[in-house]
Amino acid sequence: MSQIISHSYPGFNDIAIESAISAIRTGDFSGRQTMKLAESKLASFMGGAYSKLTNTGFAALQAALVAANVNCNDNVLIPTVTCPSVYHAVRSLGVTPIVVDVEKETPLISLEQAIRKKSTSGKNVVIIPQMFGLTQNVKPFFESDFLVIEDIAQRFSPTISQHVDLTVMSFSPTKLFTMGYGGGIVTRQEDYYARLSVFLDPDHSDHSYEREVPFRIHSPVSDYQCAMLISQLERYQEILSYRNKLVEKYDQELGYPARLQPEVPFRYQLILEHHSAKKISESLRESGIGAWALGSHLLHQLFEIEGDFENAEWWSNRVLSLPLHEKLTLDNICYISDVVRRYR
Ligand SMILES: *Cc1c(COP(=O)(O)O)cnc(C)c1O
Repeated sequence: MSQIISHSYPGFNDIAIESAISAIRTGDFSGRQTMKLAESKLASFMGGAYSKLTNTGFAALQAALVAANVNCNDNVLIPTVTCPSVYHAVRSLGVTPIVVDVEKETPLISLEQAIRKKSTSGKNVVIIPQMFGLTQNVKPFFESDFLVIEDIAQRFSPTISQHVDLTVMSFSPTKLFTMGYGGGIVTRQEDYYARLSVFLDPDHSDHSYEREVPFRIHSPVSDYQCAMLISQLERYQEILSYRNKLVEKYDQELGYPARLQPEVPFRYQLILEHHSAKKISESLRESGIGAWALGSHLLHQLFEIEGDFENAEWWSNRVLSLPLHEKLTLDNICYISDVVRRYR
């Protein structure tokens, strides 16, 4: 094994380290110094929405569901291709999510299937995870009377559609950039924000929504985490530009292969002709390259849910995800491409 190249690494550099150190030096850890500032920076980054920070993407999802007043009479739809956290966050509210298939054209939640699985009783809520940096159009879901929660943990970008009720994100270490662990919720709707501000308040001092919310969520972030986030937001374009350069290099080296075309360069993922991604990724890992197959964690398989998941099964084991992050050099990409060519 000549070198160990990790699959994923967040955008992170000396500026983030210095920012965290300065925050720690003040001796304030509670988040009171910088949380408001980080939230307002995130809000303006997202084009003037309201924002709240949490300590994980998982807690952000829980908070979005509580803000939307989701309870066990409601139907929450999620795709089978997503992070298991999405499933578990819904379950934590006592609601079993309805898992639906993805599209034939992209491994993103299928509108057609979601509409087919709508219910006539209770609210219909859809969580739309923008997987792998790809973008699913949220408008038709909104127009089909879903309450829309968009999950941009894997496609963090400063655009939120007017057709979304709540947007959640994660800044945990496998994402585009990190604040250690961290998450956020943004919304354009003042009433959601008012509720979020109360039940996420670390001091639990405001009781104005006491009867309306089923429980409070305690998920505060520390000053040094907020300082890191602020420094990362300022470097956003730089982080993306570097990743785009790596994507271009891969394309050249691999001869412009069939691949997913993400809007945000979160992953570099080849679409293989055969169901061989698992086998190839194992061989790559044996050569010291962190590569993974999409489809090892389809939710319907993980949780033994029956139904029609034809498209997800087509995608499963056909997408090979290669390393893409700031710690890689252009030479690394040449090396990885050399090894990939051997197996493809
Ligand atoms: C990572 C991820 C989450 C969970 O975020 P955490 O911060 O790890 O709790 C939720 N949704 C998607 C799509 C993710 O990729």
